Amino acid sequence: TVFKDLSKEITTALSSLGFDTPTEVQTKVIPIALEKKDLVVKSQTGSGKTAAYGIPLCELVEWNENKPQALILTPTRELAVQVTEDITNIGRFKRIKAIALYGKSPFHIQKAELKQRTHMVVGTPGRVLDHIERGTLALEKLAYLVIDEADEMLNMGFIEQVQSIIQALPSDRVTMLFSATFPEDVAKLSRRYMDNPERIEI
Ligand code: AMP
Repeated sequence: TVFKDLSKEITTALSSLGFDTPTEVQTKVIPIALEKKDLVVKSQTGSGKTAAYGIPLCELVEWNENKPQALILTPTRELAVQVTEDITNIGRFKRIKAIALYGKSPFHIQKAELKQRTHMVVGTPGRVLDHIERGTLALEKLAYLVIDEADEMLNMGFIEQVQSIIQALPSDRVTMLFSATFPEDVAKLSRRYMDNPERIEI
């Protein structure tokens, strides 16, 4: 399975989580993500989509780099916290550090956290943009962007923040977009900011 080709640190974590067999979205996404290709994925919550991007990101990030390498945008604080937990579990034996950035949590605590080694940042668009504008989120090493639940994000009115964030990122990056539905706004976002993405439908 696609889990077999991963490093020992990651496969050990997957075993300890009881992830013995990849789900369909994981089987399709992981090999393409590991090749660093842009991806547009139509899948529902509950399909195992978090690990579908979390596993390759944990595999790809360089441990020995202090600045964030992956940014995952989520529509809600609850999802940001959940994704941060999932990535922390998957990356446990590689000692991957992921932090959640969301509103209504003290900015200065997040700012202090961002000064430590951070491999991945998971957050809601408003607070992530806040950190970018105040210079507390380093973007130079940002090589991977995930837009999770893109349809929900746009439904909640985050389109402008999402665009501002993307425009601030290095253009030499991998972008993965996950959405349950594909209204025109989501399609437009993928056309505008992604490089000839592979399309996967579950
Ligand atoms: P998600 O769609 O990311 O919300 O994941 C749904 C649930 O499936 C979560 O509770 C995951 O921990 C679990 N899960 C994800 N991948 C696997 C797997 N390969 N084997 C067993 N459980 C999994």
